[in-house]
Amino acid sequence: MVVGFCVKCRKKVELKDPQEVTLKNGRKAIKGKCPYCGTTVYVFVSSKGSRKRKK
Ligand SMILES: [Zn+2]
Repeated sequence: MVVGFCVKCRKKVELKDPQEVTLKNGRKAIKGKCPYCGTTVYVFVSSKGSRKRKK
């Protein structure tokens, strides 16, 4: 599950249909939709070492 910050709801939400995208500057992000308002939410992924966290 991917959690991002929805600017419309002004809170953290669980993304709907999350998919990984690579931005033009080479950074990776997860793009998904807010389940409440449908706004597209981006979550930036730190390049490496993002697997540390346990679920
Ligand atoms: Zn929202």
